[in-house]
Amino acid sequence: MTQTPHIAVVGAGILGASIAYHLARRGAQVTIVDEGTPANRATHGSFAWINAHNPKDETYFQFRMASIRLWKDLATTLPALPVRFDGTLNWEDNPDEIEEVQRALNDGGNPARLVSRKQINEIEPNLAAAPEVAIDASTEGVADPARIAEAFLFAALAQGATLRTNAKVLGLTFEQGRVAGVEIPEGIVEADATVLATGVATAELLAAHDFTLPMDNAPGLLIGTAPVAKVTERVLTSMSLHVWQKDDGALLLGEDFGGTDPSEGVDAIIERVLCKLDGYFKGVDRAEVTTTTIAKRPMPADSYPALGAVPGFNDLWVATTHSGITLAPIIGESLATEILDGKLVKALHPYRVSRFAGQA
Ligand SMILES: Cc1cc2nc3c(=O)[nH]c(=O)nc-3n(C[C@H](O)[C@H](O)[C@H](O)COP(=O)(O)OP(=O)(O)OC[C@H]3O[C@@H](n4cnc5c(N)ncnc54)[C@H](O)[C@@H]3O)c2cc1C
Repeated sequence: MTQTPHIAVVGAGILGASIAYHLARRGAQVTIVDEGTPANRATHGSFAWINAHNPKDETYFQFRMASIRLWKDLATTLPALPVRFDGTLNWEDNPDEIEEVQRALNDGGNPARLVSRKQINEIEPNLAAAPEVAIDASTEGVADPARIAEAFLFAALAQGATLRTNAKVLGLTFEQGRVAGVEIPEGIVEADATVLATGVATAELLAAHDFTLPMDNAPGLLIGTAPVAKVTERVLTSMSLHVWQKDDGALLLGEDFGGTDPSEGVDAIIERVLCKLDGYFKGVDRAEVTTTTIAKRPMPADSYPALGAVPGFNDLWVATTHSGITLAPIIGESLATEILDGKLVKALHPYRVSRFAGQA
């Protein structure tokens, strides 16, 4: 790669923004290209919980924990990033199994503790009906989904990156057997390396060049309310409701952090979620709904991230995954290392897009 390589990053969601930032801070000349405005898809419609909550897959759990550590470093380096780490209170699991889950979290390095109803009432005094027992995972956090990609992009631009909005990438361009950039309606963006961070659109872009990336994307509906009195600092995840409160007091909520399948009808879902919210917090009667978002979660078919150099192409990288908010720092940092240093980052090995090579 040349001394100041030019990298085209397609997609200005959280992944493209993080990759662009990590490349730009290493001195690369970065052009971010998006067909719309930044974060108009999955990132904008995300619950944006930064978590490591399933210790059953040890490798993936450690990948997420490593990313949470990087988030905390970033929050120090870039204090304007809208992220906070006030923890999660979780009582989704059967109370009989909750101890086992908490032990497994601890074994994996997540310093979660079990809390009794009495302790819950102390740390979350506004919960109207505290559960008998819950897991308090203090290391976890949230990002503001409406602002996090822009904040990362702003940091990338401050490092000299360029952002081109309303520029739909129509396809890759090739030169002497390598990917030499991307085609947009106004012409060609030339690059020494190209990264597709295009979320659910990644499969279509690759399919146009005969690479099949099997995806199983699912839509999810989340609800935002008008600001209410301060009721919680944490992300609260129970079996019927997932909710956190933004700095301005607005609640972001859904039946699951991944949202509800909207096919049954938006009004019916809103009504059901509001019924669950009624009486959930002391002093909050029916909240006023101000936003509903429906976005598709980019989900490679085996449910793990699809990352790294695309086999069969020179100078083409890809990054698409669910949990992209949690994983943005580790993906951004690792891909910048692979692209700029030509080194393979071991943490990415289980999640390489190359595992899908040759699929019809
Ligand atoms: C309802 C829901 C809840 C979620 N909850 C969580 C959670 O709690 N925690 C968590 O970690 N993750 C969560 N996720 C997942 C997370 O939001 C995504 O993994 C992440 O936002 C993906 O980011 P991205 O940058 O890859 O994609 P996107 O945000 O979709 O960005 C892709 C960008 O590419 C652009 N683009 C596409 N095609 C082209 C083209 N041809 N030319 C130019 N630009 C193009 C789009 O305009 C878009 O801006 C959730 C997702 C959803 C939908």
